[in-house]
Amino acid sequence: MAAYSLLMLPGDGIGPEVMRQVRRVIDWMSRRRDLEFTVSEGLVGGCAIDAHGVPLSEATMEQALAADAVLLGAVGGPKWDTVSYDKRPEAGLLRLRKELELFANLRPAVVFDALVDASTLKPEVVRGLDIMIVRELTGGIYFGEPRGIEDLGNGIRRGINTQVYTTPEIQRVARVAFELARKRGNKVCSCEKRNVMESGLLWNQDVTALHAAEYKDVELSHMLADAAAMQLVRNPKQFDVIVTDNLFGDILSDEAAMLTGSIGMLPSASLGAADASGRRKALYEPVHGSAPDIAGRDVANPIASLLSFGMALRYSFDRAEEADLLDRAVQNVLKGGMRTADIMSPGMARCSTSVMGDSILRELDK
Ligand code: ATP
Ligand code: MG
Repeated sequence: MAAYSLLMLPGDGIGPEVMRQVRRVIDWMSRRRDLEFTVSEGLVGGCAIDAHGVPLSEATMEQALAADAVLLGAVGGPKWDTVSYDKRPEAGLLRLRKELELFANLRPAVVFDALVDASTLKPEVVRGLDIMIVRELTGGIYFGEPRGIEDLGNGIRRGINTQVYTTPEIQRVARVAFELARKRGNKVCSCEKRNVMESGLLWNQDVTALHAAEYKDVELSHMLADAAAMQLVRNPKQFDVIVTDNLFGDILSDEAAMLTGSIGMLPSASLGAADASGRRKALYEPVHGSAPDIAGRDVANPIASLLSFGMALRYSFDRAEEADLLDRAVQNVLKGGMRTADIMSPGMARCSTSVMGDSILRELDK
């Protein structure tokens, strides 16, 4: 039987509430499928600051490096908003991403049939939408040197950021996109702004070269990032996998998220490099934050976190069958009319975080 180690970092706010439901599904998978998980738990974010004075302890960092996958809830909250930058809860998450070298951020935008009216677009435009945005996460303008604010005198200052990409950085994230496409709709659209940026031109050339060398079976297209932003709203179903840099990916993935409805439904995965045995470091987390406004009331939607575990099943453990089971259970519960407050609509049954968990487990049992 396959055995995997999972590190759960529930974090702050609604993190622990939604992760409790994830734990129940992990236990269900261990009980009912030929899969075995050894689960450990740790602290990250504000709760780690309270316990150890730092948002991520060395011991937890070691555990994360050793785990087959890390499942994170959310970090942060008003209680820790005033501390200095490196002592903020978010610094714990940033350190995890950096030390695990998670260079590919996967954000699916999927419209569930039962929630098609929650989209910002017309039902006919988004019904059946299933796209995957792959964002480069460790390079580009957020990290390039030189950077900073310079004082030029006479009350004038200059703010500088630099977009830098190298061929290996571009091709490793493009590779993730091509591999994903092969298991989905077999199409990749690469987005940059080669018309005004040198790094965009290099991006275009490096993706094209990798495609020609190794992925000719996948359909590749190129689109300027601003055009892609328009096309996502005009006709999102033309896309299968989108691969783009850190900055454009930040924007396009948020835009795509709004096509699907509630933030409580959106999972994400961040993947690192594969080692010789094909094993990747990986961290899975919901797109939403710690939602301090609703924390502790058992009303948060656990589906984003549950679907993030589904992505772990798919991308870390190669268990598409179990991931599909979980996806279907979520779909059926929504079809049955069960709704947490964030996705509530007239005529549906409003439920709590834990009752949503109960319903999904019951559906898995069927
Ligand atoms: P961060 O800065 O940590 O990314 P944020 O402050 O931008 O987070 P969230 O914490 O995600 O945003 O909260 C934004 C809004 O969405 C809040 O009103 C919150 O209650 C709501 N929300 C977020 N996650 C959920 C969820 N799982 N279920 C229900 N509502 C949610
Ligand atoms: Mg916030």
